[in-house]
Amino acid sequence: MATLHDLTLMEVRQLLERREVSPADVAESSLRRIDDVEQQVGAFISVDGDLALQMAHRAAGSLKKDGTGEPFPLAGIPMQIKDSICTRDLPTTCASHMLEQFRPGYDATAVAKLFSERAILLGKGNMDEFAMGSSTETSAFHPTHNPWDLERVPGGSSGGGAASVAAGEAYYALGSDTGGSIRQPASLCGVVGLKPTYGLVSRYGLIAFASSLDQIGPITRDVSDCALVLSSIVGHDSMDSTSISAPEPDYVSGLTQDVRGLRLGVPREYFVDGVDSKVEGAVREAIRVLEGLGASVVEVTLPTTPYALACYYILALSECSANLARYDGAKFGYSHQEAATIWEGVEKTRQFGFGEEVKRRIMLGTFALSTGYYDAYYLKALRVRTLIRQEFDRVFQECDALVTPTAPTPAFPLGERKDDPVRMYLGDIYTVPASVAGIPAISVPCGFSQGLPVGMQIIGPSLSEGTLLNIGYAYEQATTWHKLRPPQ
Ligand code: GLN
Repeated sequence: MATLHDLTLMEVRQLLERREVSPADVAESSLRRIDDVEQQVGAFISVDGDLALQMAHRAAGSLKKDGTGEPFPLAGIPMQIKDSICTRDLPTTCASHMLEQFRPGYDATAVAKLFSERAILLGKGNMDEFAMGSSTETSAFHPTHNPWDLERVPGGSSGGGAASVAAGEAYYALGSDTGGSIRQPASLCGVVGLKPTYGLVSRYGLIAFASSLDQIGPITRDVSDCALVLSSIVGHDSMDSTSISAPEPDYVSGLTQDVRGLRLGVPREYFVDGVDSKVEGAVREAIRVLEGLGASVVEVTLPTTPYALACYYILALSECSANLARYDGAKFGYSHQEAATIWEGVEKTRQFGFGEEVKRRIMLGTFALSTGYYDAYYLKALRVRTLIRQEFDRVFQECDALVTPTAPTPAFPLGERKDDPVRMYLGDIYTVPASVAGIPAISVPCGFSQGLPVGMQIIGPSLSEGTLLNIGYAYEQATTWHKLRPPQ
């Protein structure tokens, strides 16, 4: 039998239900795994073993719901939460010196939902500072290493989440995705990551980067686990004014494996120069597998795709410049004390509290919003956003979902793009369109390039999470990529 830490969430859940293991056994096994590999992987900003064991003991007494006696789906299963998502019992730093000492005093709604199911928190996930990046190298504390090749990045910004799940430290993680931060690291680490429809999961307690784009979502070892975690975190929340009231389907029972008659669109603009040939080959082969399962494939065109990246980087940076104005040393986090005036204090707090990439983005965003440039940049980007949305609406008349690569290349070497922001941003080309349109997308492992995992992205119309998960599930049942684990 595979070791405990190699199993999926669903597999561990069965062992717990059959009482073959206890929540404490599972938590101890995860903590041992963290002891063994964390030095090399660096997926966590904080780990609290005592808290995890306490939670495991508490879960042991209540694996089942009162009344119905049904088991809590996530009870007793250890996970990691990205450090941009507030937790009452552990610091929430956003991987920034600005919030190094910040203790929120409350749990984010998504976290509270997991805790109400007796989930076990191992610790908080490493990430790019304030979720700004695609490699987890802008973390103010340390980089995270890709478990498939420790010299390479895990992707970002939820790199800690994807690496912890790939390395067998956590059974699943919650990440956040503004322009790809769940899907791209999932792709680079060979795990599953889903960005929900904007508004489906509450953002209450998620530290804001770009509020019109930010969404919390699951990172898991396979699609069934993803369906299970998603079912637990969705739902309307009066604490988030952008939260939507949508039906709350049981995503797990929707996994029928039947994709016959589904129309899959392959957008021409996603298979162009710049995509690694093995990545393209793996995704095209995955499309053939889905076709073999009875889906029909149509070529479609999304001509605004090349503009999505610029549109995203103007909107996200404009919003971040406004959201991060609150860090002035008076209200939250770091406060520079040696200053002659209040203004000097604010300046120094921001100078020393933020890292280089965050400052670059605040300056660019402030510029795009300033008088004289607002119309040329921000307003124009808003208009392009509308065009992108309309184009997706049109294409979803022709097909039920789109299949694309998640990222143009597999994991790149640590340091390779760190000092070349434009090159770093270009890697987000396939993930930002769905973000700008607010529609759901999932990344599922579909092969390898240079011994490194490749992910395919499945994008669908608003609230099509059930369909996306079912396509991913059907694909997984026909292939074995999701079963492979990194060496060690
Ligand atoms: N890589 C993108 C960026 O740097 C997306 C980040 C995210 O989704 N948080 O903005």
